[in-house]
Amino acid sequence: ESTDIVEIIFKIVQKHQLLKTGKEIIFLNNLKPIFLNIDVFHFENCISNLIDNAIKYGGNHIEVNINSISNAVEITVTDNGIGIEKNQQEMIFDKFYRVQKGNTHNVKGFGIGLYYCKKIIEKHQGNIELSSTKNKTVFKIDIPNE
Ligand code: ATP
Ligand code: MG
Repeated sequence: ESTDIVEIIFKIVQKHQLLKTGKEIIFLNNLKPIFLNIDVFHFENCISNLIDNAIKYGGNHIEVNINSISNAVEITVTDNGIGIEKNQQEMIFDKFYRVQKGNTHNVKGFGIGLYYCKKIIEKHQGNIELSSTKNKTVFKIDIPNE
């Protein structure tokens, strides 16, 4: 179904802001609607997990953005945390994979979120990628808009 994903993601951001996690969560989009054919339930779960991860493992500043580029819609979730080391970046999308030190050891999770997220985005002919350096971790989703 064709849905305004800006509104959907804005609501998810608001929900996380209300949780009073002590983290600053900023929505950078100007709220102009962007319509996409998506499976709303699974799409929402995917975006929620990215923001949830940024809160759990990331820094204290999180930015969420959505942009319409030529043939696709680009969604980014960025945080200023310690990030994910190069040698772990590929495994991060594997089922049950969690980083076994530093940022994760005292945080609960199953290691399912990113695996599921990738599956869902690929079902939408899209792509999810990670780039992480010191103080800047970006999860970027691209979904073609026909
Ligand atoms: P679940 O989502 O199933 O509750 P989880 O959050 O541990 O559990 P994923 O969402 O798949 O699982 O994330 C996998 C791992 O990737 C996390 O355990 C964490 O080590 C790492 N990770 C994910 N997002 C970030 C981030 N923004 N900064 C640093 N590490 C991250
Ligand atoms: Mg998670």
